[in-house]
Amino acid sequence: MRWMDLYQTLLETYGPRGLWPRISRAGTDGRDDRGYLPGGGPPEDLSGAFEIAAGAVLTQNTAWLNAERAVQNLSNAGALSHEGILAMSREILAEIIRPAGYFNAKARTLRELAGFFRTLSPDGFRYSAPTRDSLLSVRGIGPETADSILVYGFGVPTFVVDAYTRRIAGRLGFEHTASSYEDFKSHIEMNLPRKWTVYAEFHAILVEHAKVRCRKSPRCAGCPLGDLCKYRMYEKT
Ligand code: SF4
Repeated sequence: MRWMDLYQTLLETYGPRGLWPRISRAGTDGRDDRGYLPGGGPPEDLSGAFEIAAGAVLTQNTAWLNAERAVQNLSNAGALSHEGILAMSREILAEIIRPAGYFNAKARTLRELAGFFRTLSPDGFRYSAPTRDSLLSVRGIGPETADSILVYGFGVPTFVVDAYTRRIAGRLGFEHTASSYEDFKSHIEMNLPRKWTVYAEFHAILVEHAKVRCRKSPRCAGCPLGDLCKYRMYEKT
């Protein structure tokens, strides 16, 4: 199986996922009540990019549902912006984002990230996307978080690798699934068209597939990838 075949099969199965939700805009501009907008693009304003970046930090090591509550709390407190985060103490911030877990460490990272966003300059109507290296220099921002911020917040074509990607690809029999983050990411990118829309949607449908079927204990019966899956072939699930 090729990476593009996997993408197309999953896209046909699950449909467009609506990319990263804008919780602060839920129920408006065609978004559903959780802020998803199928077919939508990256935000055109810096506050939108910051909302996505904050969500990417808050969902580290926790389910999105918990991160979503923390983002909603920030929005309710009028602090879902780099200015809002920098205007409050780390202690209060930590309390607000408590539902996301690891709240002291995440409060520290959010403050670092807010300081970083303050340095981004407008570029005409829009603004410049930061470089990957500059994002990685922010304390608390690792490769997966940086790539999530770049692709969903700024429309930069960079693939997000996570544990779900490795699990699904490994079970299907793809190569390089045990290599480093950077090597695996490069391998995937070399086998896909260099388009942020493909990268963003692909990651979202991999997450969906991992939650719906390819769980730790997979539900293989009826899986659209079953005929091509090495795990299914050998494990006889
Ligand atoms: S057949 Fe099973 S193991 Fe293979 S991709 Fe589908 S759910 Fe995952």
